[in-house]
Amino acid sequence: MQHIVKTPIKKTRKKLYIITGIHGNEAYLFEHLKRYLEELQLNEVEVNLILANELAAKRNVRFIDQDLNRSFNFENDSHECKLALELINIIEGDLILDLHTHTNKEHFCLVSESNVHNLTSLINKIAIKYCIIIPPELTNKTSLIENFNHAISIEVGEHNSIEGISFAKNIVKRSISFLEKSILIPEIVMPRTKFLLGKDFLLNNSKAKMVVNKNIINFSKVIKDQEISQDLIASDDFIAVLVSKEINPGKKILLKCKEIKI
Ligand SMILES: [Zn+2]
Repeated sequence: MQHIVKTPIKKTRKKLYIITGIHGNEAYLFEHLKRYLEELQLNEVEVNLILANELAAKRNVRFIDQDLNRSFNFENDSHECKLALELINIIEGDLILDLHTHTNKEHFCLVSESNVHNLTSLINKIAIKYCIIIPPELTNKTSLIENFNHAISIEVGEHNSIEGISFAKNIVKRSISFLEKSILIPEIVMPRTKFLLGKDFLLNNSKAKMVVNKNIINFSKVIKDQEISQDLIASDDFIAVLVSKEINPGKKILLKCKEIKI
């Protein structure tokens, strides 16, 4: 793990933690944000930047033994469980941003059901279109966002993309301004965030690799009896998120969600 602390000019009142590289193959954000922080003038907020899974980052793999984002509140001898414990002991902030990239360009955030009301004003301030709410039964409280108050995971865009870096910098800038309650950065005018409550994961229960239909994409509405893949029909209406394109037997196809009002 690498931990970089940038202290502000005035005596600090607020602490921001930025976590990168929870998944080793997404760690490119760390070096870019490190340089960005060096240039940044901070007045009141202490910013801590962390590269979480350094070994996985060096090998450019998602993890060494198991997914670090399923290793919190969980005990075994894996490299990731040890890292999760270290993170639990280090991180204590007013806001924790856990930054990720994925295989698509969309931006969205994920928060735990117990934290969503604490984070609503931040989510509106940082202008993210979709927020997925994770109830405890979905991941058995093993993800980062379920183990820290005021923690939010943000998908900033496609792996290794320039757009991902600039969106991540923007999120950092807006989060600092949110913590400083600064009015220097104008609000982005865009539709209100849609809050989507995660219901359950749809799994590939067949014995063969599954290919999802092209029209089933993140945030698309799926209706009952719609074809999801050649051998799978939707059993109810839902909004699809975290959609994978090719899924091995037993693996997750997507997360079914329902839009809710906050
Ligand atoms: Zn990730």
